[in-house]
Amino acid sequence: MLGGTSEALALARALEGDRRYAAVYSVAGRTRDPRLPVLACRCGGFGGVEGLIEYLRAERIELLVDATHPFAVRMSTHAVEASRRAGVPLLALRRPAWTPGPADRWVQVADIAAACVALGPAPRRVFLTTGHTDLAAFCAAPQHRYLIRTVEPPTVRPPHCTCLTQRGPFDLEQERALLREHRIEILVTKNSGGAATAPKLAAARECGVTVIVVERPRLPSADQEVGDVPAALDWLADHCARSRPTDLGV
Ligand code: NAP
Repeated sequence: MLGGTSEALALARALEGDRRYAAVYSVAGRTRDPRLPVLACRCGGFGGVEGLIEYLRAERIELLVDATHPFAVRMSTHAVEASRRAGVPLLALRRPAWTPGPADRWVQVADIAAACVALGPAPRRVFLTTGHTDLAAFCAAPQHRYLIRTVEPPTVRPPHCTCLTQRGPFDLEQERALLREHRIEILVTKNSGGAATAPKLAAARECGVTVIVVERPRLPSADQEVGDVPAALDWLADHCARSRPTDLGV
C-alpha cells in the first residue's frame, strides 16, 4: 500500500491483524515522524517506475493500493505503469474533491503559481496551507503577510511570515479562532478533499474569507478507483475471496 494520507492510514489500520493479507505500508519519507500502522512498513522512494516494478516482483506483491495524496502525481503515475507492466492489479483510493457551496467565496486556480498571482498586487493577510514543498512560489509576492501552516518546518518561505508546524486533523473551533486571531483575508489550499482538513473551509465560509483553491492535477486511471476506506476494504475482500486460498493466505 502506497500511503501518506489519513485515508491510507485508516485503511492500513483496518488490515492490522487480518490474516487474509500480508500488507506492507509504504511512505515517501518526507515527514520526520510519519504516522504508521502496526504492519510491515517501508520508507523512501523505490527509484522510479523501474524500481517499483522490481520491488513488486522481488516481494511477490499480488495487489497494489495507491492511497497517496491526490497531488502525488509522480507516485500515482508510477503505480499505474508498474501495475500494468508487472501484471499486479491496482486499486486507487482517491477521496472526492471538495466542492464549493453557495456561501463559499472560492477562486479556483490550476496550480500554485496561479494561486500566488490570484492573491493580487495589494498587500493581504494570507493563510497558506499548501504544504512545505510549495512555498517558494510565494516568495514572488513579498507584499503579503503570511500565516504558514505545515507538518514539516519550511526551509524556503516568503518574508513577513509566521510559521506554525502542526499536523491535522483540525476542528472548526480551532480554525475559526486562527482565522480571527491572525485577521486572515485569504486562505490558500490545495483541493485535497477528505475530512481531516475540511474545517478550514467551513471556518473561511463563516468568517467571509476568500479561498484560493488549487485544483487537482489529472491522474492516470487505475484498474479500479474507490472514494473511501469501506469501499477499498470491500474491493480487497472481494479480490481476496476470488483468489485461490493459497494466493493471499499467510
Ligand atoms: P510525488 O511527487 O508523486 O512523489 C515523488 C516521489 O516520492 C515518488 O516518485 C516516489 O519516489 C516517492 N514516493 C511518493 N510517495 C511514496 C510512497 N507512498 N512510498 C514510497 N515512495 C513514495 O508525491 P509527493 O508530493 O512527494 O508526496 C509524497 C508523499 O506525501 C506521498 O505519500 C503523499 O501521499 C504524501 N502527501 C503529499 C501531499 C502533496 O500535496 N503532494 C500532501 C500530503 C501528503 P520514487 O520515484 O523514487 O519511487
